[in-house]
Amino acid sequence: MEDCIFCKIIAGDIPSNKVYEDDDVYAFDDIEPQAPVHSLVVPKRHVETLNDLDDVSLWNALLRGIKEVARLKGMVDSGYRVAINCGEHGGQVVKHLHVHVLGGKRLDDKMG
Ligand code: AMP
Ligand code: ZN
Repeated sequence: MEDCIFCKIIAGDIPSNKVYEDDDVYAFDDIEPQAPVHSLVVPKRHVETLNDLDDVSLWNALLRGIKEVARLKGMVDSGYRVAINCGEHGGQVVKHLHVHVLGGKRLDDKMG
């Protein structure tokens, strides 16, 4: 989608630190990490918010991407946090669905 920063990252028009990629999803490091590990998993197809995700196979692909990030970043045993911000109250800034995967240390309990 035109003017979507994450579509541009997926297309390679904006550089990113790639962590994982398959036919359906792309994962890369967040530019402003909130934890020692902070990656984003995004569908390659432009989906605006979680509200717009109605494809179970894409949900499955995102789960695969999350698990690959956890494995590649060495967080399977230590644990990690997964978050999706949806819409205004959820604090979603980039309007291309993305899953935050955070870890690399014990995270505090604040959830907003
Ligand atoms: P959200 O608030 O859930 O929409 O999160 C958007 C996230 O995208 C933030 O954590 C930003 O730091 C991150 N972000 C924005 N631009 C880039 C970029 N060019 N490369 C990597 N991460 C980005
Ligand atoms: Zn997009």
